[in-house]
Amino acid sequence: MKEIVILGGGYAGLRALKFLQKSKGGFHITLVDRNDYHYEATDLHEVAAGTQPAEKILYPIEDVVDPDVTTFVQATVEKIARDKQEVSLDNGEVLSYDYLIVGLGFRSESFGIPGVEENSLPMVDVKTSIAVHDHIIEQLEDYKETQNPDDLKIVVCGAGFTGVELLGALNDARGEYAEIAGVAPERIELYVVEAVTRLLPMFPESLADYGVAKLESWGIKFLTGKPIKEIKPQTVVYQTNAETGETAELTANTIIWTTGVSGSKVIDESGFSARRGRMMVDSDLRDPDYRNVYLVGDCSAVMDPESNRPYPTTAQISLVMGELAAKNILAQLSGRETGDFAYTSLGTVASIGNTHAFGVVGTKTPVKGYAASALKKVIMDKSLLETGGSKELLAKGRFDLYH
Ligand code: NAD
Repeated sequence: MKEIVILGGGYAGLRALKFLQKSKGGFHITLVDRNDYHYEATDLHEVAAGTQPAEKILYPIEDVVDPDVTTFVQATVEKIARDKQEVSLDNGEVLSYDYLIVGLGFRSESFGIPGVEENSLPMVDVKTSIAVHDHIIEQLEDYKETQNPDDLKIVVCGAGFTGVELLGALNDARGEYAEIAGVAPERIELYVVEAVTRLLPMFPESLADYGVAKLESWGIKFLTGKPIKEIKPQTVVYQTNAETGETAELTANTIIWTTGVSGSKVIDESGFSARRGRMMVDSDLRDPDYRNVYLVGDCSAVMDPESNRPYPTTAQISLVMGELAAKNILAQLSGRETGDFAYTSLGTVASIGNTHAFGVVGTKTPVKGYAASALKKVIMDKSLLETGGSKELLAKGRFDLYH
């Protein structure tokens, strides 16, 4: 019997699993993930801010696994040996495969900036997002003793998609933070330090400006055109003048790092010809060197023929990739041609807090305000339904279906 190994129970991996399981085509599947749960990576900022408990954004991987076809192994992937068709795990197990789907996700990218690892908080998975929230609460509680205004300050590094959504959620939580520290809400200071001046290039400029203006109207301070050069303990060092290299410092007891991501380090460490953990795949998502290996999600880069650039890394795209990898393995198994990646965006929406958002429906139509926020929830629920199933949607979906 043929063996299909899927690495990673994220959006792409679980979508591939669901699709393959449906076909029950005389193969066995092994799914590997370090956790026994799947999490909605697009909601991590809410866990970090504390506007949503972690349990609400995850569900057990077992809920998606059909034990007649699939074995789930909870372990961390250490290395992929494509020449031997083997995957080594941290529990000492070595898995052999006929077909492999690699969907190992992303990690935080520090770009080699000194002090990032030691002095700022990443927000890349459930554990690190809970750690951000715990850290914020600890500083607020400390404030009652120290009266140090830096305990009330939160700096987000990088105003990309993640940074902006995080700022919205932090603003939602401001009242609660103020209560914990025993101060007025406006004493909770939220900053973002960003290298460029034209933010959120995935949106038309007027929409990006709308988002920034909204956040500023809530008192969030934007320092734009200020590349971060170093993170010292409780201090962000940023450049104020590109010509002279002059820098300034912003002190805060919570510094959160959201300046971008790269693909899993397993990709780099396993000799894939990848850049920052992201491998350029063929149009059918296969590794150009190994015709039985597919890369999907954030560790995969597939060319968008329209823009002549790789598609961005988003949950929506990961879902489409997962399904195509599964379809293409079925095609290979039955001697058919593999299909090419094609993608039509449902829309791209950035939430800023629970009731505001901005973005585009489809590829063009702009939406803002509450309507955009509702649309975002529809897109999220669609993903939840397609990956997890109706049980997950009822338990975790944002729409209350009973009212
Ligand atoms: P990003 O690359 O979108 O944004 C990072 C930001 O950090 C950029 O604005 C960049 O200019 C800034 N930056 C980089 N280095 C800096 C420095 N030294 N100093 C100051 N600023 C610096 O990264 P992200 O927000 O982590 O998102 C990662 C990926 O995930 C993106 O492709 C994004 O589109 C995607 N994403 C999608 C959604 C969604 O569709 N709902 C949500 C979150 C993230």
